Amino acid sequence: MLVLAKTLNIQPRILNFSQPKWSQIGQFMGCYSNVALHPGMTGPEFYEKLNTPLCDRFYLAGEAFDLDHAGYVTAAYKTGRNAANHIIEHELNKTK
Ligand SMILES: Cc1cc2nc3c(=O)[nH]c(=O)nc-3n(C[C@H](O)[C@H](O)[C@H](O)COP(=O)(O)OP(=O)(O)OC[C@H]3O[C@@H](n4cnc5c(N)ncnc54)[C@H](O)[C@@H]3O)c2cc1C
Repeated sequence: MLVLAKTLNIQPRILNFSQPKWSQIGQFMGCYSNVALHPGMTGPEFYEKLNTPLCDRFYLAGEAFDLDHAGYVTAAYKTGRNAANHIIEHELNKTK
């Protein structure tokens, strides 16, 4: 919530928890995010905004940044790979 407020000027609101009892279990080993919604934007529009680099070569990536696989390793892998590919493309274009 702090990162979104500081970087994108979005004030997120948590609507619910998928696993509300996990935090009460010893050794629960963390948590994962759920799909985020933005009033007035479609899901794809909002996630496109989330995936826009904050400035030159400064990307946010991870499980929370992919609409289709939010909260899963697939999202972390996909968004990390996309960010890396964008950076490589950017660097290659600079040398042309
Ligand atoms: C109990 C549980 C079960 C799950 N089961 C599945 C499953 O079956 N299938 C599946 O696909 N997904 C599952 N997930 C979700 C999956 O683990 C996550 O979606 C995935 O690990 C997220 O990867 P990530 O790289 O985005 O974030 P993370 O794996 O959380 O990586 C973030 C890293 O950043 C580090 N970090 C944090 N703050 C800082 C800092 N200030 N400075 C430096 N480093 C920092 C953390 O230590 C961490 O290593 C599960 C999650 C949990 C908690």
